Amino acid sequence: MLGQEPDKFGAIVIGTGFGGAACAAILANKGIKTLLIDKNKFFGGKAFTQNIHGHKIDFFSHLLCMGGSGEIGAVLKEINAFDRIKFLQTRVGSLFIYDERPVEIKTKMDFGTLLRLADWMQIKNNEEMEAVMKAFQYLMEMKEHDFDQIYNLTVEEWLNLQFPNIPLAFKDFLTLWCGMMFVNPSKFSSAGEYARYFTRILNTKDAGYCSGGIGYIPELMAKTVEENGSVVKMGEEVDKILIENDRAVGVQTKDGNIYMADAIISNVGIQPTVLKLVGAEYFSKEYITYVKNLIPSFSGVRIRYFLNKKIINKKYGSILIYGANHDIRFDWNTIDQTTFEEFMKPINLPVFISIPSNYDPSLSPPNEQAILATAIAPPNPNRKQWDILFDKIEDSMFKTFPEISQHIEHTDRATPKTIGEVSGRIIVSDILPGIGGEAVGLAQIPEQVGYNKPNPRSPIPGLFFVGCDANVYPGGGGVGLEQATNSGRNTARLVMSYLFGKKVRNL
Ligand SMILES: Cc1cc2nc3c(=O)[nH]c(=O)nc-3n(C[C@H](O)[C@H](O)[C@H](O)COP(=O)(O)OP(=O)(O)OC[C@H]3O[C@@H](n4cnc5c(N)ncnc54)[C@H](O)[C@@H]3O)c2cc1C
Repeated sequence: MLGQEPDKFGAIVIGTGFGGAACAAILANKGIKTLLIDKNKFFGGKAFTQNIHGHKIDFFSHLLCMGGSGEIGAVLKEINAFDRIKFLQTRVGSLFIYDERPVEIKTKMDFGTLLRLADWMQIKNNEEMEAVMKAFQYLMEMKEHDFDQIYNLTVEEWLNLQFPNIPLAFKDFLTLWCGMMFVNPSKFSSAGEYARYFTRILNTKDAGYCSGGIGYIPELMAKTVEENGSVVKMGEEVDKILIENDRAVGVQTKDGNIYMADAIISNVGIQPTVLKLVGAEYFSKEYITYVKNLIPSFSGVRIRYFLNKKIINKKYGSILIYGANHDIRFDWNTIDQTTFEEFMKPINLPVFISIPSNYDPSLSPPNEQAILATAIAPPNPNRKQWDILFDKIEDSMFKTFPEISQHIEHTDRATPKTIGEVSGRIIVSDILPGIGGEAVGLAQIPEQVGYNKPNPRSPIPGLFFVGCDANVYPGGGGVGLEQATNSGRNTARLVMSYLFGKKVRNL
């Protein structure tokens, strides 16, 4: 009987992260009957926004490194939704505090900002000044072929080769950006990926936030899925991706519902999709080895402070507190001989602070403030003790803004385990210990970016990956949300040609 047959779609997208939501919105917009399904009851995966204690506040701190001028803006334009959201900047820009010395940096950097930066970095003589100016000019003027040539170097190797004479404070500034952009240390990240997106951010000058909280963007994308006659189901966890005759044909949820489609697109991450949702038995041994060896990005720990008074009165877009020796530098030869606490103790852990209501005042009640303070952490969701990192965050916060401690109404904390639960990637942590809590997705290391980036097409026809783990090259890559959205757009194109090819084969 018709009523008992499983629902049939052109495409099923599992996950409403920026990658999944963008992909589903484009497919639905092009007339493909799409099911967008998520285990969470909220949109946006790791970038969701919560209503809590009277505030509308992101669960993890997020900024848009290209505002509406990058991939997110491009997708919203493609689905005719760009005018339904406001991209926002703050006039004062960001505050950087290096070794307790503050400097304000405007989003639209100019020559005056550079001079102030030089002064702030305590550049001692003309030689150092010249090295900094030359390095900045070089970065701003790099061309596409320059980036391609350094994809196989790490950021640290490249900075040492390209700018051997820059002062330490400037090098610290550049490597800090690597952590902020890729949530991954400069010792391991790809120089080409770093330089390409660092210069793009500097040249675009549109970093900021959006009205309604960061999670409003994927929510809006999902709304357009329904407006185009397709279906969105929230709070339904996919348990299995169904394979028949060597093709992906549908999904089964934890509740036992079955939905069928010509193409299945997973936003859950390559490792969880292959090893858990499909199952290793459907892939070659070589592919399983490849998937198991993929390396995740680093993760984060964060504290949210809900204050009964506005303590930070200037409308900074973000605040960075850091110092010399801030960069996490694991050494493969000694890593097993050092405890996490011993390893982290000397590190001057950077703290990234954001206050969403500085962009959109409607997000917090008048005269109150909600602040997110985040620091980088390894991605292991099974580690129980993160005290050393939380203590470092609290120390920096209370030293820099002593008044905060007297006005706290509520605080809460998140660890890599929380991140893994929200993203759903934690399901692999039993078979791949230490993996599952990553902040971005796969690490942007030379072996996993550019031409080495995993392809959105899986070896199983009809099964695709979308989000920060997979993209096509040239063109695919970038910072967190931009990268995920870009993958959404590129994967949607691949899915459309697959579906078209399938139709042609059936004629
Ligand atoms: C603390 C922190 C700070 C960050 N700061 C920034 C920033 O400032 N700027 C920036 O650009 N990026 C930032 N990022 C990175 C950014 O959040 C991610 O790169 C991006 O959200 C990844 O998107 P995605 O589409 O790949 O996947 P995800 O966001 O991980 O989405 C995956 C989706 O799949 C769903 N799912 C998983 N399993 C199942 C299942 N079995 N059934 C159904 N649904 C399922 C999940 O519920 C989720 O909605 C930050 C990340 C963290 C953690």
